[in-house]
Amino acid sequence: MAAQTLQLRPLGNTGLKLSSVGFGASPLGKVFGDVSEQDAFAAVREAFHLGVNFFDTSPYYGGTLSEKVLGKALKALGVPRDQYIVSTKCGRYKEGFDFSVERVTKSIDESLERLQLDYVDMLQCHDIEFGSLDQIVNETLPALLKLKQAGKIRFIGITGLPLGIFTYVLDRVPPGTVDVILSYCHYSVNDSTLEDLLPYLKSKGVGVISASPLSMGLLTEAGGPEWHPASSELKAACRAAADHCKEKGKNISKLALQYSLANTDISSILVGMKSVKEVEENIAAALELATAGMDEETLSEITDILKPVKNQTWPSGIQQS
Ligand code: NAD
Repeated sequence: MAAQTLQLRPLGNTGLKLSSVGFGASPLGKVFGDVSEQDAFAAVREAFHLGVNFFDTSPYYGGTLSEKVLGKALKALGVPRDQYIVSTKCGRYKEGFDFSVERVTKSIDESLERLQLDYVDMLQCHDIEFGSLDQIVNETLPALLKLKQAGKIRFIGITGLPLGIFTYVLDRVPPGTVDVILSYCHYSVNDSTLEDLLPYLKSKGVGVISASPLSMGLLTEAGGPEWHPASSELKAACRAAADHCKEKGKNISKLALQYSLANTDISSILVGMKSVKEVEENIAAALELATAGMDEETLSEITDILKPVKNQTWPSGIQQS
């Protein structure tokens, strides 16, 4: 069979082409358990060599650890800077939230230093539902536009859980202000509500990244971390779906990732990875989707198991729009 490569997909109007599987670097901050620096470097290297060109981090992940480890790992690749796309965030820190002009302006310099980069491709306001959305519109995004003019960032994004935050902001800023949105836990087998927003985002020319196809670990054999905010009902349903797959000799993570990847209106599916094994499994899942399609039978069985909790989410932030 001819060698397969990971699909590259355009990101809104940015001109960037992201690998369909993006490398979520929050696990490098040890938020899903311990990871040695050696394993982290090997995972990043393997991902890059298998066609992943998009890496996402934040100063919040592991209290800056993820940015530091990712920066070292990318540097160790020894490839030209334009071979990979890096996204980091601002406004959310171990100490709390701060979307002020002063904080986000300082934040990018700190991130660039930790990442050992001269610029990032994307700077995203992190989990904006925890701040004032009007501050994001009136202060934070104009500050990010200045960082863009200064060449420290190429594109601007916003992230968060409630989908209403995206329309709130995008309806209030001039076109072209926000280049990309990053949504999470809303395009997985158990929750696909992001789908309804895709035509609107397309009409605005905004690129779409969807994170957490494994529902932050719930759609894995090992299950989610202690801090996972889902209800016990949702966790139990995901556990039942994972057990069902295991009994059939199938891997729920593979199926869950393929489900998210199948929607090509989403530019990149960001999956958190912390080992070469996970990287290899996830890339293989993407390549297999392109050649052989999905195991529709098992997908339909787990869809049935998850039906009672379909689209169930959890509260996030200080306001719900
Ligand atoms: P995820 O759904 O990608 O799950 C990650 C978990 O699944 C980790 O424990 C990982 O080790 C495990 N995993 C990965 N591949 C596996 C495999 N093949 N088999 C078994 N387990 C596997 O959740 P996530 O990491 O939270 O999301 C992905 C990325 O998206 C994050 O790392 C982060 O970069 C980004 N993200 C951003 C936001 C935001 O901006 N608000 C929110 C969530 C996620």
